[in-house]
Amino acid sequence: TPIFRAQITPDYVPDSKFYKVEAILRPWRVSQVSSALVKMGIRGVTVSDVRGFGAQGGSKERHGGSEFSEDNFVAKVKMEIVVSKDQVEAVIDKIIEEARTGEIGDGKIFLVPVSDVIRVRTGERGEKAERMSGGRSEISTAL
Ligand code: ATP
Ligand code: GLN
Repeated sequence: TPIFRAQITPDYVPDSKFYKVEAILRPWRVSQVSSALVKMGIRGVTVSDVRGFGAQGGSKERHGGSEFSEDNFVAKVKMEIVVSKDQVEAVIDKIIEEARTGEIGDGKIFLVPVSDVIRVRTGERGEKAERMSGGRSEISTAL
């Protein structure tokens, strides 16, 4: 007997007002990526040092001695940028433009729906909390 499945329709795409663009990148490309994001009006970014491996297990990847650890995990930086839906593609394009070398190990971008944003200082939620002063939405409405 077939298992019970969720109903698939080609036009059903789960939607969200906000998305987290989560990019795993080469550490030495991160400052270039972040200055380009600031230039386009991105004001909120979180970065963490992480280690990982992908299809090549880190082994085929070109690396300096310090970037490569004994256990095949390669040092990467995770950048997390929460933006409104209409800014997602511009942010992704910019990250690729600034981070891509064309060599194995350039990284990956994950897109994650975010259900709410809460600003701790004010208690604001949603759009009010996601908007940053001097941010992309302010810049583009001023144009
Ligand atoms: P406030 O107006 O109270 O300063 P804010 O919205 O500017 O609030 P911060 O308190 O400056 O937020 O942000 C704290 C940290 O949250 C930042 O250092 C950054 O790591 C992270 N952060 C803020 N906004 C975003 C965002 N849109 N995407 C990813 N990280 C963010
Ligand atoms: N979407 C916000 C704005 O336009 C900026 C978000 C961000 O900087 N991550 O104000």
